[in-house]
Parts: sequence; C-alpha cells; structure tokens
Amino acid sequence: MDVRETLAALAGERFGRPLDQCSDRQLYELLLLLCARLARERPAPAGERKLYYFSAEFLVGKLLSNNLLALGLYGQVSQLLEQMGRDLGRVESMEPEPSLGNGGLGRLAACFLDSLAALGLPGDGVGLNYHYGLFRQVFREGRQTEEPDPWMEPDSWLIPTGLRFPVPFGGFTLQAVMYDIAIPGAGSGVANRLHLFDVERPARRPWVGIDFDKGDIPHCLTSFLYPDDSDGAGRLLRGYQEYFLASAGAQLILTQLEQRGFQPGQLASHVAVQINDTHPSLVIPELIRLLVERGLSINLAIDQVRRTCAYTNHTILAEALETWPLASLRTVAPRLIPVLLELDRRVKEACPDPRVHIIDPQERVHMAHMDIHYGCSVNGVAALHTEILKHSELKPFYGLYPQRFHNKTNGVTFRRWLEVCNRPLAALIDSCIGPDWRRDAGRLEGLMAFAGDSQVLERLLAVKQEQKDRLCRLFLASQGVELDRMSVFDVQVKRLHEYKRQQMNALYVIHKYLEIRDGVLPERPVTVLFGAKAAPAYVMAKHIIHLILCLRRLIEDDPRVRPWLRVAMVENYDVTWAERLIPACDISEQISLASKEASGTGNMKFMANGAVTLGTLDGANVEIAQLVGPENIYTFGATSDQVLALYRGGQPDGRGYCPLEFYHRPAVERLVDFLVSPELLRVGDPAALSALWRDMKGKDWFMALLDVEDYIAARDRCLRDYGDRRAWAGKMLVNIAKSGYFSSDRTIRQYNEDVWHLT
Ligand SMILES: *Cc1c(COP(=O)(O)O)cnc(C)c1O
Repeated sequence: MDVRETLAALAGERFGRPLDQCSDRQLYELLLLLCARLARERPAPAGERKLYYFSAEFLVGKLLSNNLLALGLYGQVSQLLEQMGRDLGRVESMEPEPSLGNGGLGRLAACFLDSLAALGLPGDGVGLNYHYGLFRQVFREGRQTEEPDPWMEPDSWLIPTGLRFPVPFGGFTLQAVMYDIAIPGAGSGVANRLHLFDVERPARRPWVGIDFDKGDIPHCLTSFLYPDDSDGAGRLLRGYQEYFLASAGAQLILTQLEQRGFQPGQLASHVAVQINDTHPSLVIPELIRLLVERGLSINLAIDQVRRTCAYTNHTILAEALETWPLASLRTVAPRLIPVLLELDRRVKEACPDPRVHIIDPQERVHMAHMDIHYGCSVNGVAALHTEILKHSELKPFYGLYPQRFHNKTNGVTFRRWLEVCNRPLAALIDSCIGPDWRRDAGRLEGLMAFAGDSQVLERLLAVKQEQKDRLCRLFLASQGVELDRMSVFDVQVKRLHEYKRQQMNALYVIHKYLEIRDGVLPERPVTVLFGAKAAPAYVMAKHIIHLILCLRRLIEDDPRVRPWLRVAMVENYDVTWAERLIPACDISEQISLASKEASGTGNMKFMANGAVTLGTLDGANVEIAQLVGPENIYTFGATSDQVLALYRGGQPDGRGYCPLEFYHRPAVERLVDFLVSPELLRVGDPAALSALWRDMKGKDWFMALLDVEDYIAARDRCLRDYGDRRAWAGKMLVNIAKSGYFSSDRTIRQYNEDVWHLT
C-alpha cells in the first residue's frame, strides 16, 4: 500500500482538500480512519481455546503511534509527515487519551492485550465503556479538584458492533450495547478485540464537577470509572457496573462459543476466562446460571466454569479485597442469589474453616474466596507477592488447593514503553545489538557486552539528556514551569496512596530544604518530580498532594533553595505523561512499604529506559534487584517479613509498630514537625497539614517513619554516585540490558503455558 496515495484519497473524500493542506487535527482523523480500517480487516488469531480477559479497567493510552507500529506503518507515516514538514507527535497530540482506567491494574490489562495480539494468541479484552473516566485532575489553590474527563469523539477507535445483551437487574433490565476497539498485533498479522459494554442511552454531561445522579442507573451506569464509593448510592452503582460487565461478558462468551460450533457443555475446552482482580468475579456465578438455563445440571455447570475461570490477585490491602453485602446483591442481581447460596453451601459442607467461606456470618460475599474455590488458578503478580499470598494472606486456601497457586510476574509491553516512547534509545540499542530485541526483549541482555564501551556509555548519557530536554520543553509548554535541564531528575509517578509513600518522599524534600537553608549545599541540583491522582474520597491522599504543592510553592519562592532543589508535580498524570516522564528519569522512586505493592509496573518501565531504581524490597523490585545486582540499584528499608511481623504485633514486647518512637528521634522529629511550621502554614491549609502531621506521629499505618532515615541515607548515596558519570552510565546500561525479563510477552507466554493453553 502506498500510504501517501491512500491518505491523499481519504483527504479528498473526507475533507475535499489535498493532503498537504490538512490541519494536524485532520491528519489525525485520516490516520485514525486508516488504522481502524486496516486493523478491522485483520483476521482474528485461531486456537483451540479463546481467552476472555475480564477487567474493570483498560488504561490503553493513546493508540495512534502504537497502532501504526503494530500495522507496520510507523516508519512510512512518520517519514511522510516529515517530508510534508509535519510532525507525528503534534498530530498525535490531537488524540484524547481514552479514560478507561486509572492505574497499574488497568495499564497491565492494556499491556496484556498488546502482547496477546503480538504473539498471535486468541484473546479479547472485556470491559466497560466509561464516558468520563475516573476524573481529570486540576490543581486549584494547592489542591486537587476533579472534573469529568470525556474522551469519546465522533471519530474514535470505537467500533459499534450492533451486538447487545439484556442484563437482568432487580426490577429492570438494561441492554448492554457492545463497542469494540481493534487490537492489531505487532508482527503477527492478526488482531484481537477489546469489547466495551455501554448502556443504550448514556447520560450527557449535566453535572457540576464529577457529581451526578448515582440513582439513575439506566443512564449513568457507565458514566464514571469507580464512582466515589464513600456513600451507599455510589457503592451500589459500582455493584451494578460489576454485574453489567459480568453478565454481558458471559453472554458474549456463550454466543461466540455457539458461533464457533460448540455446545455450552464444551465451554472449558474452548474458552478461558481471566479475572483481573475481583471486580469481574460475578462472571463465575453468571456463567453457571446461564449454563443451567441452557440445560446443564448444576454439577456440570460448576465443573465447566471451574475449569474455565482463573483469578489474578492484585493486592493484600484489606480495604481492596472486595466484599458485597448479600442484601445489595439481592437488589442488583437477584437471579444470582440462588447460585451464590449454592456455591457457598458446597464450600461450607466441604470445609469447616470459616476463613474460607464465601458468605460470612455478617452476610457479606467475599469475592476472592469465590474466585479461588470456583476457578482453576490463582496467581500473584510478583514472586514476593505470591509467596505472601501462599504463606500469609491466603494461607488457608493454599492449604486446600496448593496446585492452584502460582506466580506470574507482571510485565509491560516494550513496544509502547521503549520503542515508541523513547525512539532515540531504541535507535541506540539497534546500533549496538540490532533490532531483534523488538521481537524478543530478552535479547537486550546483549547490551551487557557494551558495559565497558565508553562510546556507547557516552551516547546513553546523551540520549538521557535529550529526553530531559524534551521533558523541559513539554513542561514549559503545558505547565508554564521552567525546569533545570542540568539537574538530577528524580521521579515518583503513580496513583497516590499512603502505602506508596509519597509522604516519605516529601519528608526527604523537607530534609533537603532544611539542609540547604542551613547552608549545607548538595553536590548538584535536584528536581523532584511527582505525578499522582488521589481517589476523590481519600482524604489523607489529598492532604499529601496538598503537602507536595505547598512544598513546591515554598521552594519556588525561596531564592536560596531554588537553585539546588526544585519540586514539580504534573497535573492529571496519565499514560501520555508517563511516556514523557519515564524516558527522562534518572532516579526511579519505588518506595512502597515492603509487602504492600503487589508488583508495580512503573518500576519496570523506568528500568527499561535507563533509570536507576531507588526502592524498598517490595513487589517486583525484589526481582529487579536480583537481576541487576546490588551495585546497580539502591535498596533500603524494612523487609516484608519485618513489616508483616510488626503488623502482627511482633516486637519483642508484643507491641506492633509505634510511630512515636521513631518520631522522637531528633532527625525525624524536625522533618515531621515541619508540616506544622509557621513557614509551611503560611502557604498551606492548617487543617490539612495538621491532620497529616497528627496522622504521621500517631498512626503512620504505612510506616514512613520506620524507613525514613534509611531512605534519606540511600537517596543521598545515590545522588553522590550520580556524579561519577561513567559509572552511572554503566548502571543505566545494566538496567536496560536486564529489563527484558519484564516484557509482558514473557508474562503472557507463561500464562498461556500454565493456565490458558490457547494454541
Ligand atoms: C505504569 C503506570 C502506572 C502504574 O505505576 P506503578 O508505579 O506500578 O503504580 C500507573 N499509571 C500510569 C499512567 C502508568 O503508565
């Protein structure tokens, strides 16, 4: 195909003008049309079994560059645009980012779809078509405010399918209308689909902020992702979303099974279902219900579904392990109640241990318990996380079904997270080891041969500087802030959560600020970059954002400190920002409290882009440390065993963690008390800052004070080492070379071999 000719014809058809007179916006629409058409024409991959990857979120990011790459058009199109004096980056900036997810879990699902298609495996995503996403974050007067985040335009990647399925709620039925996004595989010639269900008549945008009528299920069911669940109506709406996803998805599965010429009783031989965290769990009872409706006995239905479904656990945080009051489910999905009661009865009959029951004495349904009893596989997402599941969190289940438990360490797609987001680095790697790493990220290991090649190391440093300069330009253009291009870029970007400990990073900033004010200057200037959204109802997380924004303001206004230490926070951190920040990062902050971050995937993206990790031995950081060796990572802090013992009250005197003991160390007290110092209170909200201060001293549930001194020491050591540019470049190189293990292609191959058996 001649791309120029095809696009020129499209331009004439659609806009009645020659290609070179099209605006960036029009060029974007033409490329979208072209990609969507080509992707649609691709065949679906074939296989004995077909996977349905159920997830409440798919954080796909912008699709244009990735689809051009997958369709083999990237080179031609960027060249053509260049010849026309245009720029693909500018054209892509016209594309809104689909607001279909909010963080690591949704981004994982998107990477998995990319890998499934690239590996030519039959696997579709199943999710919901949210109209306004989680929210768009806007900073006003040092605080996060939330606005709707619309993304659908008349021309979008969504393909109407004409398919619809009735979802029977209590008292009313809604049609689930199915839209698809085509997922072309890079190098495989095939395409899978992301199926997104929507209501027939979605509400338009009559709200103030992100408030809306949570009782108006027929119109608002798909308005927002995870609507604020701090009140009863919000929680119930979430229940409606979950059953809508499960029921429509289950009906789609059985419809396609029949179209492929199989009977409902052959489900397990031809279908695999992966349940991404517990949100889609109702697919289990719904499939059982539908199979019984189609004539299977309950025993056969349960057996088929058990052999079909597999569950991925993403967290050990108690508040994230979903339970549903049986009473709510009676309202939302009354037809599932007999199935749930039967599933629970069988468990209670077989296992006296109440810890493994599905319905507890308070009549709450434990979703993860149902997934484990009535699925064939349970996996954690990093080696450490899976061990914690087996020996602590889900220990009684591991005792019952040891063969069901296994680990699948997360991964990321190197197509988006290296090839597309960091072209200069990809070109440098090509020049060293050739292009094969693009198919097989394990080949990056070949870079180890260049660990002593000063020319390559120089070029690596030059690429990093180029990316830092690019970030500076983008920052200036979008946030009006001029960064110091020669400073060390220290980056913590991820959802805001106390366990991720952005507050501990803020304590470090305070430490440096006070040092500089005391005349102790650092060896080189540092820029501390943050990006994070806080859940709208998560008060403490919003206080932490406020603290960061206050520190930023304090430092920007202080001519003594500003040349040495800067703080910046990107507004509305999303995939697009991640793609800009990660290539420019020197130090990757992965500082969660050990045992709390199941895996993390941000850590992997940073590593692949030559950032050096400063982190705790948590999640996949443990595996990163094993791969790169202690001289190429900076680790600190309590181990997960120590932390788990503290939560059990495991100090010698039988008490658990006591933050006051750490607070009273002089070096720590000074940092914590700074939160309520007159200078900070002058720029911030006293109520928020003192609430944060009280919480840190009195509760500190995620133990920032336990690790903060060790953290400061490790971080300062890291900054000192940065000064030896050649040694640092060596660390960067080793990190890139060893990152191939974290390709989602590897993860997907393992799922396929151990769980799905698709081809
Ligand atoms: C990768 C990614 C995440 C996950 O980051 P973690 O550090 O693993 O929590 C969250 N948001 C976006 C936009 C991402 O790209």
